[in-house]
Amino acid sequence: MNREIMAGVDLGGTKILAGLFDDRGQMLGKRLIPTEAVRGLEAVLKRMTGLIAELKGRHAPEDKLRGVVVGAPGPLNGETGLVYEAPNLKWRDVPLREMLQEILQVPVWVDNDGNLAALGEYTYGYPQEYRMLLYLTVSTGIGGGIIIDGEVYRGIDGGAGEFGHMTIVPEGPVCSCGNRGCLEALASGTAVARAAREEVSRGRMAALQEVVKGCTEKIDARLVAELAAAGDGEAVHLMEEAIGYLGIGAANLVNLFNPQAIVIGGGVSGYRGLLRGVEQVVKERSYSSLSRRLKILPARLGSEAGLMGCLALAGRKIKCGVSGRPFGMPAD
Ligand SMILES: [Zn+2]
Repeated sequence: MNREIMAGVDLGGTKILAGLFDDRGQMLGKRLIPTEAVRGLEAVLKRMTGLIAELKGRHAPEDKLRGVVVGAPGPLNGETGLVYEAPNLKWRDVPLREMLQEILQVPVWVDNDGNLAALGEYTYGYPQEYRMLLYLTVSTGIGGGIIIDGEVYRGIDGGAGEFGHMTIVPEGPVCSCGNRGCLEALASGTAVARAAREEVSRGRMAALQEVVKGCTEKIDARLVAELAAAGDGEAVHLMEEAIGYLGIGAANLVNLFNPQAIVIGGGVSGYRGLLRGVEQVVKERSYSSLSRRLKILPARLGSEAGLMGCLALAGRKIKCGVSGRPFGMPAD
């Protein structure tokens, strides 16, 4: 077939998810592979471009690749595609767009993974329901994205929406960004695991000790959440503490943005009671006139939010067919 297609790539510190879409927005194929970031920049680029070639060869060998959209971690410039810093990948000032265009010989657009996930949930998760939407993801770290009047707000350097790094507790735990007491250092999966390890080292959390049998490296947020769901009081306390901090973060966002919706995603967000807990704190701590119409909602796209955001961005960048219709628009 002679379709126009695009590739989306969600580049993470541990995994790369790539997908191929036709110009009606249908996914033709996708695949998840490990990033293997320790092997360095060139190797990661090779894995990304190799994955696109593989998907194209398998699902769309005859079709014309119109462009590639990449979601990358860390603050970056969406115009130039320069990644300022991505600690998980050990990257600093990487001209990702330029390097990929050089290899692929098609137009490439690069955006922050949080921005793209926000755009994905806005466009496909809750299609056009909320023009003023904030996306908050809680997993290993905490990230986010800001949709204002249907468009991503990126700030002057492309770094807006780093919700995980607002200071919540001035002398709190050290964060991956170097600051102290960031939301991410208090309420992410990593933070919950670290708090649990500290409790265990003080001889507390007998149930958790029982599960990991002295091997504290095995402690992660999933284990704590499972124990909490099973009714273990100490685990419940840790989860409630994290949810309380998340609620404070969300309340700050409500007072700052007065959004229609805050969509919460990421691995930790599946914990039962998290959304309700956040909602409770938001009610207590933000202006009631600003939270009255607010909806706090679960992300609908799961781990594909970033990938679907790549498709949504392609719709804003690529015009196709003779009519010049935006890429990815479904047939009427
Ligand atoms: Zn931070």
